[in-house]
Amino acid sequence: MTPLEQVDLRPFNTLALPARARYFARVENAAELPGLIHWARARSLPLMVLGGGSNVVLQGEWPGLALQMAMRGRRIERVRGGARVHVAAGEVWHELVQWCLAERLHGLENLTLIPGTVGAAPIQNIGAYGVELADRLHSVRGCSLDQERELELSAADCRLGYRDSIFKHALRDRFYITEVTLNLSDEFLPVLGYPGISSALEGNPEPGAEQVERAVRSLRQSKLPDPATLPNAGSFFKNPVIDAELFARLRERYPDMPSFPAPDGIKVPAAWLVDRCGWKGRRLGSVGVHAQQALVLIHYGDGNGAELLALARDIAADVRERFGIALELEPTVYGTP
Ligand code: FAD
Ligand code: NAP
Repeated sequence: MTPLEQVDLRPFNTLALPARARYFARVENAAELPGLIHWARARSLPLMVLGGGSNVVLQGEWPGLALQMAMRGRRIERVRGGARVHVAAGEVWHELVQWCLAERLHGLENLTLIPGTVGAAPIQNIGAYGVELADRLHSVRGCSLDQERELELSAADCRLGYRDSIFKHALRDRFYITEVTLNLSDEFLPVLGYPGISSALEGNPEPGAEQVERAVRSLRQSKLPDPATLPNAGSFFKNPVIDAELFARLRERYPDMPSFPAPDGIKVPAAWLVDRCGWKGRRLGSVGVHAQQALVLIHYGDGNGAELLALARDIAADVRERFGIALELEPTVYGTP
């Protein structure tokens, strides 16, 4: 397959940011991947992989090859008590959730309506409403940049953490996922601990899988802007996890600061910190902070990645000054202004 040249990437990112790729290829068949990797390496070109573009900030011209992962396919392998579901990387995550629900294979209900592709789900270990991919992942298959051939990584190899994985560190931009395998169950075990779910279920103490999925879907639709009408990339910052000492000091000054125990400290919702610094609903030219959800930055059109990142830097600087907490970007940035 010969890549296209000078391709506009605006349609390929949910922030609708202007950017171009020097070379671009849509990969519909995993077998084409080693050849494309080899093509880029032979020309010393950097590689960027895109799924649905819902967790990236693009800017300027990408000087190498951009690959859009578009391979499709799903297969159920029955195992005791449930199934292993093998899914091609280009499948749409939300469609997978709906299909599993129809197949009565459980475990993904709380992850409904997360935008993007299946292949991107392990990159930040997607999570919502008390469930994360790590709870369901069996393994991934993909091509490594260094070896130019297909490899399988177990869930443990992926080192999934809080919105984190090996694909954000040692294997960052070096491993291209072609297939994800999930462990799903015949039995439905509801996860109902997040605020809003019980009230959306109207007090039903024993909801079925469809009811929980519907409750999460309607909560998300009521709170989150649709990128098709207000371009965004979901949460722009990760929720920081801080140590007990800093938390105790902050709690004295801000008794209403929400917090949740995390494996290595205390998680504080970044949205609360951003809101407290007065950023919620503010707009600076073509970019701004959503009026209902302070973690979501919006591109109103005619702006660019540099403007959005400048806004994110200003927000993070205010949070650092006021709370002594460093916010980390959740989306990955590609290109230079
Ligand atoms: P992209 O944005 O295309 O890529 C993201 C990163 O993954 C890039 O670094 C890219 O190189 C890499 N990548 C993509 N595909 C592959 C592949 N096949 N192999 C190797 N690397 C790959 N996230 C959550 O965790 N929970 C949420 O509840 C949530 N809600 C969201 C709501 C909205 C409205 C939006 C816009 C985003 C939300 N997100 C959420 C973020 C986003 O949807 C997820 O991170 C999603 O997994 C990104 O998928 P994508 O295909 O769009 O990835
Ligand atoms: P919310 O329910 O208003 O909660 C605010 C924050 O508090 C969330 O970030 C959540 O952390 C944390 N939290 C709430 N209840 C918790 C509990 N019982 N245990 C541990 N942590 C708890 O959040 P929201 O903004 O409406 O989002 C709802 C869910 O969708 C969250 O899980 C969120 O992560 C997910 N979401 C993610 C994105 C994204 O782009 N990453 C975008 C939209 C929504 P967690 O974020 O760690 O869950």
